[in-house]
Amino acid sequence: MGAMSRNEPAKPSNFIREMVLEDLRTNRFGGKVITRFPPEPNGYLHIGHAKAICIDFGLAQEFGGRCHLRYDDTNPTKESTEYVEAIKADVRWLGFDWGEHLYYASDYFEQLYEWAAELIKAGRAYVDDLPQEEMREYRGTLTEPGRESPSRNRSVDANLDLFKRMRDGEFEEGTKTLRAKIDMASGNLNLRDPVMYRIRKVPHHRTGEKWCIYPTYDWAHGQSDSIEGITHSICTLEYEDHRPLYDWFLAELGIHHPQQIEFARLSLSHTVMSKRMLLELVEEGRVSGWDDPRMPTLAGLRRRGYTPEAIRDFCERIGVAKADNVVDIAHLEHCLRDDLNRRAERRMAVLRPLRLVIENYPEGKVEEMEGVNNPEDSSMGTRRLPFSRILYIEQDDFRESPPPKYFRLAPGAEVRLRYAYIVKCTGVLKERSTGEIVEVRCTYDPATIGGDAKGRKVKGTIHWVSAAHAVEAEVRLYDHLFLKPRPDEEEDWKTCLNPDSLQVLTGCKLEPSLKGDAPGSRYQFERQGYFCVDSKDSRPGHPVFNRTVGLRDTWAKIERAEGG
Ligand code: ATP
Ligand code: MG
Repeated sequence: MGAMSRNEPAKPSNFIREMVLEDLRTNRFGGKVITRFPPEPNGYLHIGHAKAICIDFGLAQEFGGRCHLRYDDTNPTKESTEYVEAIKADVRWLGFDWGEHLYYASDYFEQLYEWAAELIKAGRAYVDDLPQEEMREYRGTLTEPGRESPSRNRSVDANLDLFKRMRDGEFEEGTKTLRAKIDMASGNLNLRDPVMYRIRKVPHHRTGEKWCIYPTYDWAHGQSDSIEGITHSICTLEYEDHRPLYDWFLAELGIHHPQQIEFARLSLSHTVMSKRMLLELVEEGRVSGWDDPRMPTLAGLRRRGYTPEAIRDFCERIGVAKADNVVDIAHLEHCLRDDLNRRAERRMAVLRPLRLVIENYPEGKVEEMEGVNNPEDSSMGTRRLPFSRILYIEQDDFRESPPPKYFRLAPGAEVRLRYAYIVKCTGVLKERSTGEIVEVRCTYDPATIGGDAKGRKVKGTIHWVSAAHAVEAEVRLYDHLFLKPRPDEEEDWKTCLNPDSLQVLTGCKLEPSLKGDAPGSRYQFERQGYFCVDSKDSRPGHPVFNRTVGLRDTWAKIERAEGG
């Protein structure tokens, strides 16, 4: 599959891009491309939003237009400025810039109110007394037409008066709504006199106590697009059935009329992607917060060590289509490895340390070995690694009774220490009461380093850290948040939360060059995976590393098997 190759020359096209191109050819919007990304500030952005951001900002960039960041802040009960700020930070981190075009639907409340009054005057909207329950009954079903509300044929004057009094706070929540007067028999339920305003006596994070009626999404969205001169209003598939309503409002008002275009939302395996569910995980303490490195939020992925480049690359590779599908999380990890492999420097780190004593190495002697920072890129240079008599190796790299084809250390066996000598195991020391191996003993062959080593070959190479020089660290290993690929298809999605999604290792031994690294710094720990310095919990003297992703790439294998 060509789209997966790194050297793909041109961006692959998609149906949205084709529609924009067609509008440019026919000069439909005067040659302009103005898009918007319209988050509701009721949670943090997730990787699904990243897909929408890449489409919205990407099209504007490609065609020399612009993309607005507009907060769809019409529901004050769930929104907050914490979310507003977090969303800005995440969009910027992803690499996009709205310039001066930062907007809020709440800035348009007055204009929306006036337009609603206009629709009332034109006989196109009315104040309804039906409580929510009854309104639902009157609405009918997909197979049965709805019934008209008894309030439907109020006079214009009565409607104008009641609407004003709704705004003035005369009525209780739930006792009145403003509805568009369209068609209770429409085959599209969205056109059966949809609600435009609800009474909500809740202060808003931007408008304070000024309003106690709030517009619905359907009423606010298209008109906000129109006010901003949006040309292409791109949204997810669930709004396809709302498009006739989007068009109806704009046509009735006779104002600038953007084109709404829908695409399939991104779903990822082994996680959930709805803000409601993510909020539940946060509120119930099942994760440490919105930025927990296991979360599919941009804040979580960032803290985990993802790069914006890898996420943008992923969004491009999955493409834009109209059919819903679930993308394997391995695909996202594949994009990440691809990026980190090129940019992350290699380091040695022992996560589960075991002492290795080289009996014939002089006490007090320290040599400096040279380690390559990135075999993929020689311009990244080398670094010095202190080597001494007592080292740490990985517990896994020693077996007292090795299985067949075990090429690491075992009694009598030889192994190469990365960037250093070949050593031969001479024995072990055990803790007398438990039988636990506390130390491995070996001898080294001084002739097995550098150019002289050519004649000698051993099958295994293991990593190590000099005990006297090691930096001690906490390392957090992560696994999928959910055990099942599609948790939202389970009867109770929380039952398949992975109890082992976080494993904390303390007393890990890192090579000394990792001392005092800035939060967010990324490395490949040889043979272990990619890691980054945790941005929240890491402190001088107590470094904390997150494993971003392991080295094994299941996605690359799948792709090869499928002949991609
Ligand atoms: P959620 O379902 O997670 O609560 P939402 O659609 O309610 O998401 P909004 O803040 O309204 O969240 O979304 C802002 C924009 O991001 C919308 O245009 C929406 O269509 C898009 N978007 C949301 N989720 C996804 C997704 N999974 N894939 C692609 N685009 C998405
Ligand atoms: Mg929404």
